[in-house]
Amino acid sequence: MVKTLKFLFGVQKNTIKKILLSATFIAIILSAIILVSQSLNQQNKKIKILIVAGHEPNAGGADEFKAIKERDLNLQLSNILKDMLSTNPNLEIITARDSSGWNTDLKNYIETNSTTIMEWASAMKNKMMGKVDAGKIELIDPNMKHNNATTNAILYLFGTNKWIEKNNIDLVLHIHFNSNPKINGKPVFRGYCMYIPEKQYSNSTSSRIFANYLNTEISEIEKPSNMLQEKDLIIEDQQLIATGVYNTLKIPVVVVEYAYIYEPMMLSSSTRNIFIEKAASSTAIAINNYLSRNK
Ligand SMILES: [Zn+2]
Repeated sequence: MVKTLKFLFGVQKNTIKKILLSATFIAIILSAIILVSQSLNQQNKKIKILIVAGHEPNAGGADEFKAIKERDLNLQLSNILKDMLSTNPNLEIITARDSSGWNTDLKNYIETNSTTIMEWASAMKNKMMGKVDAGKIELIDPNMKHNNATTNAILYLFGTNKWIEKNNIDLVLHIHFNSNPKINGKPVFRGYCMYIPEKQYSNSTSSRIFANYLNTEISEIEKPSNMLQEKDLIIEDQQLIATGVYNTLKIPVVVVEYAYIYEPMMLSSSTRNIFIEKAASSTAIAINNYLSRNK
């Protein structure tokens, strides 16, 4: 009897040991499977890019020269760029507006959350001013004086930043064409430049890397700006809402001014269309290079 018990006990102990061992083995296998599928998911996750054609669909802010409206050029470039980038299956391309107006989701979000958006912007401002008072951040005046935006434009710019955060966008590009200032009313400037967040902002370094890729390609199709305040070409700015004033953006962002709208090649539609086409393809190449080398 004692022998039998001992034997049975022995068997039970072995069995428990075996069960424990195989449970551990199964657990290891399962966690390995989970890890592999997580990393596959990450690899399969599309990179979300937001293209913002500068200014509002029908009004405000945008520069005009003769019959050329900046907001229309921005949209033309945005539409072509979207088509070019959409051929990359790893990217999800979202535009802030298209030929029929604002992105409906963005517009609905902004229109129904306007109070929350502006409260968020002012809370972010207070947070930054607190750091300024504590001597942790230095206020930097921009090189270039920016045009004052309308109340609605301010709401849409901050709203876009908040919407970017809410939708986990990975990269933002703002498309613009330059115009002002002219000297004695005469259009004398030419060339491209870019704006990125000032170096004390958390997304400044990543934005500069992105801007460098854009600079490499755009310098092939357009001259650098000959305006003194734009001589850096990649210009840090602490106050632009588009580049995330008060740290309202955490992801890489660049505002590109592709050319002055009164430059000779912009005046006739045929040469302008060729330039915009080239600008879009340079940008698409720069984005693809940036993404493939900065995973
Ligand atoms: Zn503009």
